Amino acid sequence: MQAATFRSALTTAAVVLGFFAFVALLSWGEYANWKAQVVRVETSLTQTAEAITQHADDTIEMSWLSLASLISEIRDEQHHPEMPAKIETAIAFQMKASPTLDTLSYIDATGQMVATSADDPPAKMNYADREYFRLHKSSPFRLPVLGKPIKSRLSHQWVLPISQRVVLPDGSFGGVVVSTIRVNHFIHVFRNFGVSSDRSFLLLRGDGIVMARGPMEETLLGSNISAHELFAHHLKVRTVGAYDYQSPVDGKVRIGGFYQSGRTGIVVLAAASEREVFLEWTGTAKARWFYAAVLLVVTILAAVHWRHQLKLRRESEAQLAAREAEFRLLAESSSDVIARFDEAGIREYVSPSSTQILGIEPQRLIGKSVFAGMAEDAELTVRSAAERLQDGSTQEKFIIKHTKPDGEEVWLETALSKLPSREKAVATRVVAITRDVTQHKKKQDELDALANTDELTKLANRRFFNTRFGEMMQRARRNRTPLSLLMIDADRFKQFNDTYGHAAGDECLRQIGAVVSNCVKRPGDIVARYGGEELAVLLADTDIQGAWAVAERIRLQVRGLALAHEGNPPAGHVTVSVGLATLPPEAPADVTTHALFSEADAALYRAKNAGRNQVVCGEQSYLKPNSGAAS
Ligand code: GH3
Ligand code: MG
Ligand code: MG
Repeated sequence: MQAATFRSALTTAAVVLGFFAFVALLSWGEYANWKAQVVRVETSLTQTAEAITQHADDTIEMSWLSLASLISEIRDEQHHPEMPAKIETAIAFQMKASPTLDTLSYIDATGQMVATSADDPPAKMNYADREYFRLHKSSPFRLPVLGKPIKSRLSHQWVLPISQRVVLPDGSFGGVVVSTIRVNHFIHVFRNFGVSSDRSFLLLRGDGIVMARGPMEETLLGSNISAHELFAHHLKVRTVGAYDYQSPVDGKVRIGGFYQSGRTGIVVLAAASEREVFLEWTGTAKARWFYAAVLLVVTILAAVHWRHQLKLRRESEAQLAAREAEFRLLAESSSDVIARFDEAGIREYVSPSSTQILGIEPQRLIGKSVFAGMAEDAELTVRSAAERLQDGSTQEKFIIKHTKPDGEEVWLETALSKLPSREKAVATRVVAITRDVTQHKKKQDELDALANTDELTKLANRRFFNTRFGEMMQRARRNRTPLSLLMIDADRFKQFNDTYGHAAGDECLRQIGAVVSNCVKRPGDIVARYGGEELAVLLADTDIQGAWAVAERIRLQVRGLALAHEGNPPAGHVTVSVGLATLPPEAPADVTTHALFSEADAALYRAKNAGRNQVVCGEQSYLKPNSGAAS
């Protein structure tokens, strides 16, 4: 019992463990999926940042070329009287060649605009106050400089100025050439990469100045974010990569992919909000979660059902064991042999009393067929009882003879009862209760014998004769054999009693009975004392000639006893008269025992009338048509 509890606890633990392992595996899988999704997004953002950086590089380099050509033109045409017109033409040419440029202008050393691509420039506009002008005027630095975004005085648009000092052939400051690129140009580029509230882009100068932001955020333009971790940390160790951060603009947690150009130092940060990544991930995970949930529910239901079944089975097993124990307790305390047979008649259980009653130990009987070692007639009896049970009877009883191993013969009475059949069983299981009825049977046999025997002659009595008469008649008909009946009556027996006394009469009747018994030898024949001094003999399978011979033998042997009987002239000895009737095989089926008896009686009557001490045959009136003897 303890082992079973332990086993059950172990199984439950295994199921619970399995369940958690399953959930853990699912969670781990989903975590891995999330990680993969994040990596995918990071890679995509980094690639986007790289693509935008390259485009920005191209755009800036293009303006460098334009500035360089313009400077060369200014140097060449410096002293030409139509220099401004020439520069104007050169600017127009460069503007055509570089479609990404917004404007291209030349400002002389005094800050006065000489020529520009801008439409309708205001007259006498001076640019000496512009930061780039002041820078180039004061610094000998000769390469192009990318300035902070400014709001153009010409187009009123946010632009990125790229300016370069003009150095005249004599080495003096010759003014500034400046090109602008609209910030909007980059915002258009960002749009191509799906700018939205969840996706933002930053175009930064190498020193951390914000050049453009998508979605457009004017307040950010020109601000310095070099203190931000992108510059403070990430760009210090690599030029490309991804990291998570909280946006200072909208406070959203973002995943950023960055790329820094090796050519211009430009940095692009492409960022996606975690919400966007999460939405993409849940989009792909939904179907997986649904199936996992269904699987989980099915698994839980199956486990619950399995546990329930297990419980039911345990209960029924316990019940069965309890019933078996009860059955054994009852069986083992009984003095009768109690045996249980399976559907095939094999003993499953035999109680200990079998040693006493059958002379065989239970162990030697269990597993053996009920018919093993059984006598033929006993087997027949048992088989027919089993068949009756099979056909619907609930209990059957029979008595058979059993020979114990030591040779002792006993009579056993057995009661067979059906057990509730097992599921789908065709045959029935049976319980047999067997007791020794030898003593009882002996007494019964004695009583039966007494009831059927005539006390004086020890022959069968009239009751027995009548029972057997009907049976023998039926058998004769069935077997189509003749049946003969002799009615034997002592002649003038009243006279015998009167002469020799009643006791002598009794003795005489005993001797006549013995003679008749001697003359009838076949086992199936019956000799009975029918009435006072009247005997009846039934001869099976005996025709009229055979019966006549037996009757004659009886008559002669009685005469041969030579018992004196003065009152019986002419013999002077005891004689008998015999009436004989035979039922031949060809007799009609409706001839009754009564008809046969009447004929024998009538024949006896004729024998008396004809002078006694003789045999007279019946007339077989029932063979004649319309005799009416069958009544
Ligand atoms: P019949 O030749 O015509 O048969 O004459 P009967 O005298 O034998 O016939 P009846 O029927 O008149 O008498 C039968 C007698 O048999 C009457 C009775 O005294 C005698 N008897 C019947 N049963 C017994 C018996 O058990 N013991 C003795 N001793 N006599 C018996
Ligand atoms: Mg008589
Ligand atoms: Mg008589």
